[in-house]
Amino acid sequence: MRLSRYFLPLLKETPSDATVASHRYMLRAGMIKQNSAGIYTWLPLGHKVLKKIEQIVREEQNKAGAIEMLMPTIQSAELWKETGRFDAYGPEMLRITDRHDREMLYGPTNEDMITDVFRSFVRSYKDLPKMLYHIQWKFRDERRPRFGVMRGREFLMKDTYSFDLTKEDAVKSYNKMFAAYLNTFARLGIKAVPMKADTGPIGGDLSHEFVILAESGESEVFCHRDLVEMDPPGDVDFEGDLSHIFKERTSLYAATEEMHDAEEFAKIPEDKQLSARGIEVGHIFYFGDKYSAPMKATVMDSDGKPQTAMMGSYGIGVSRLVGGIIEASHDENGIIWPKSVTPFGAGVMNLKPGHDESDAVSEDIYNKLVAAGVDPLLDDEKGSIGVKFSRMDLIGLPFQIAVGPRGLKDGSVEVKDRATGEKQNMTPDEAVDLVMKAYA
Ligand code: ATP
Ligand code: MG
Repeated sequence: MRLSRYFLPLLKETPSDATVASHRYMLRAGMIKQNSAGIYTWLPLGHKVLKKIEQIVREEQNKAGAIEMLMPTIQSAELWKETGRFDAYGPEMLRITDRHDREMLYGPTNEDMITDVFRSFVRSYKDLPKMLYHIQWKFRDERRPRFGVMRGREFLMKDTYSFDLTKEDAVKSYNKMFAAYLNTFARLGIKAVPMKADTGPIGGDLSHEFVILAESGESEVFCHRDLVEMDPPGDVDFEGDLSHIFKERTSLYAATEEMHDAEEFAKIPEDKQLSARGIEVGHIFYFGDKYSAPMKATVMDSDGKPQTAMMGSYGIGVSRLVGGIIEASHDENGIIWPKSVTPFGAGVMNLKPGHDESDAVSEDIYNKLVAAGVDPLLDDEKGSIGVKFSRMDLIGLPFQIAVGPRGLKDGSVEVKDRATGEKQNMTPDEAVDLVMKAYA
C-alpha cells in the first residue's frame, strides 16, 4: 500500500478522554473513530489488525476441532425467557421492540440461541462431542464504557459452545479450549495467564479467565510468577488426553480478585508472588445443564434414554485484544506491533520523494516486499523527515526501512527494528532479505 493512496487519518492532539496508551494510540494512529460512547468505527488500519487477530483466533479454534458458524446479532426474547435470563440479565442488555411489538434484543452472548440450535438438530449421543463457534458483534450497555475498544458497548467476540454427554466428557472439551487459548494468545504475541475465575451471570462452577498483565488493567490479579513465562503447549493432539496441560497450569496459584484466597497466596515463596493489574482477554466456563435443562436440549444415550447435554462456553474478546496487545507492547513514541498481527509487515520510507534515486530504490524495495507477501506500506508522501519517522514509530510496524539521498551515496539504506530500536545500514537487497527472513 502506498501512503499517498491510503486512508490514514492521524490525529496530532491526544484526545483528553483517552486515559490509557492503547486508546490514545489507536485514535492518534487513525485506527478507530468513536461514534458514540463505547461504539467505534474501525478505520482501515484498525480494521486490518482486527481481522488478523480474528484469523489467528479462528485458526486455533479450528485446530482444536471447533466448527465455525454465524448466529445473528439481533435475537428474539423468547429463548431468553425460556432460560430465565431475559429478566435476570439487567440493564446491560439492549432491549429492542420491532414494528409488531415483538421483544427483541441485541445479543450480549449466545448460550440461549446455540442451545436452541442444538436441540433442533442433535438427537443422539453419537453426534457428541460438538464444539460450535462464531465470531460476531455483541452489545452490552456497559455502565462505564472506557479505555477505547477495551471496554466498549459494541464489541467483537469469538464465542464457542461445547456439548457433551457427561460432565467427564465436558471437562475434556474444556481442556481442549484451555490448550487452544494458550496457543492463541502466544501466537498473538502476548502472555496471557489462566486464572481461577468467577462465573458471573453465565453461571457454572468451573471457570478460568485468561489475563494479560498491564498497569492499565481494570482488575487486580494474583499469581505465581512462573506462570507468566510458561511456554504455550504448541503442537498438541486435540484427540488425546490434555489434562496434563490443564494440571500443569492450574497447580500453581492464579486467581482474579473475586476468587483470591490470601492464605493460599501467602504459601507461594515470596519472590514468586505476583500481584498486578490485569486485562481479561478470554474467559472459559463449564456450566453443565444450566441452559440445556430448561431448554430441554437432550440426546439419546446408548440405552435409548434421553440425557441432558452438558455444556461449556468459551469467549475471546477479539476487539478488546487490539487494545490489550497495544497495552502490552508500546513505548513513548507509539505502538510496537507483534509480527503476527501488524497491519503492514514493514514500512518503507522514501525520505525525498522526487529525488530520482530515492524514488527508484524505495519503489524497488517496496515491489520486492509486495512480491514476497510482506504487505509493506510505502511512505511516498512529501514532507519533513521528522514527520515521517515519528509517523512510522506511532503506527508501530516491526521494520522501518529509510531510503534517502544521503545513505544512497554509499549505496545503503537504514533498517530500524521497531521493537529493539536497533538501526543498521545495509544495501537495499540486504534490507529486503532481512525483512523477508523475519516473516519466513
Ligand atoms: P468483563 O469482566 O471485562 O466485563 P465479562 O466477564 O463480562 O468481561 P465475558 O462474558 O466473559 O465478559 O465475555 C468474554 C470476553 O469478551 C471477555 O473475556 C472479554 O475479552 C470480552 N469482553 C467482555 N465485555 C467486553 C466489553 N465491554 N468490551 C470489549 N470486550 C469485552
Ligand atoms: Mg468474563
